[in-house]
Amino acid sequence: MSPNSEAPQNLPKCQAEMRFDVLAKAGLARRGQLFLPHSVVETPVFMPVGTQGTMKGILPEQLIDMDCRILLCNTYHLGHRPGHKKVQKAGGLHKMMNWPRSILTDSGGFQMVSLSKLMTIDETGVNFESPHTGEMMELPPEKSIEIQQALGADIMMQLDHVIHVLTTGDVVQEAMHRSIRWLDRCNIAHTRDDQALFPILQGGLNLELRAECAAEMAKRARVGIAIGGLSGGEEKSQFWRVVAACCAALPPHLPRYVMGVGFAVDLVICSLLGADMFDCVFPTRTARFGTALVRKGGQLSLNQKRFEDDFRPIDEKCECDTCKNYTRAFIHSVINKETIGCHLITVHNIKHQLDLMADVRKSIELDQVEIFLNNFLSDVYGPIDDEGSKGKEIPQWVRDAVNHMGYKLSC
Ligand SMILES: [Zn+2]
Repeated sequence: MSPNSEAPQNLPKCQAEMRFDVLAKAGLARRGQLFLPHSVVETPVFMPVGTQGTMKGILPEQLIDMDCRILLCNTYHLGHRPGHKKVQKAGGLHKMMNWPRSILTDSGGFQMVSLSKLMTIDETGVNFESPHTGEMMELPPEKSIEIQQALGADIMMQLDHVIHVLTTGDVVQEAMHRSIRWLDRCNIAHTRDDQALFPILQGGLNLELRAECAAEMAKRARVGIAIGGLSGGEEKSQFWRVVAACCAALPPHLPRYVMGVGFAVDLVICSLLGADMFDCVFPTRTARFGTALVRKGGQLSLNQKRFEDDFRPIDEKCECDTCKNYTRAFIHSVINKETIGCHLITVHNIKHQLDLMADVRKSIELDQVEIFLNNFLSDVYGPIDDEGSKGKEIPQWVRDAVNHMGYKLSC
């Protein structure tokens, strides 16, 4: 079954009022502003992930102090606890979380696929065994929209047919076509005019399928569009090529959201290839294991004994509350013993991501991407003076992507 060639016309009017302005361009990259009902989002943007309507180890007030404008919340977790009807009763997700700025909710489908032992997908929707109650449940596209409308986020995601990124054969095309049909069903179920609905581009690693899907979904997208099905264990050489091909195939007026991207190098490369939005649990999850994100060398495992008497902040240049007030030695002493250890690293890691994206935006605005890129890569891969490290080779995929963008690396 092929999707209808015509996009449905009954879309909420207010979606037209949400808009994306491109303020500056440098090479393939864009510096933009996304106007949503609860905030203006400066792009390229990294969106921290809160699962059960809370950010683990950080308060909304602290995120506002860092000028974070948008969060991602997991529909699946919220649907389970406290339940979408309760969230609606509480006045919606913004009110329940005490978060006045923008929120994006996912469709719930991805979590079902990853958490459920028993899961099948047919034309009706996703059928899965609840990991909480053991009973079989259904999630058709309409239900995903009903839940997301009860939650009330600024951006909702369509339910898509998720397959493993390394899947090959006809099923890739079938899942892509089904995702387009499900998008049409989501669009019909979408009745709230103060929420945007993002399609999710599928097609695996097949660039022709990706281009076909981009053309169909661009017809149906009103505010923005996501590039899905990546960051699932594919080679980096394939990852960046799919991102580049999708960005090239999508119209310039829609912000492009690459799902599940959160490593610093990936954020920088994808932004410079023309992507605008990203999310990942990595910075908060890794904080819980005692790892702090830094520009020089990428990461510090504060569990290591060498930090016992290290009285410097995590990052001397960082202006987060953790770096202003606490030392590596103190954090090392409380890691795995007190929740404050996780809290302090989480605050720093989110600030690290937001600062990195602010620097990417600045480099695009000033048309100094090549200088920024060289400094950034020599920080990540170059020698770290005080640790006697010789540094690492810049991976070939990074060199290939930079070459594709037309920049020269001096390192
Ligand atoms: Zn910091």
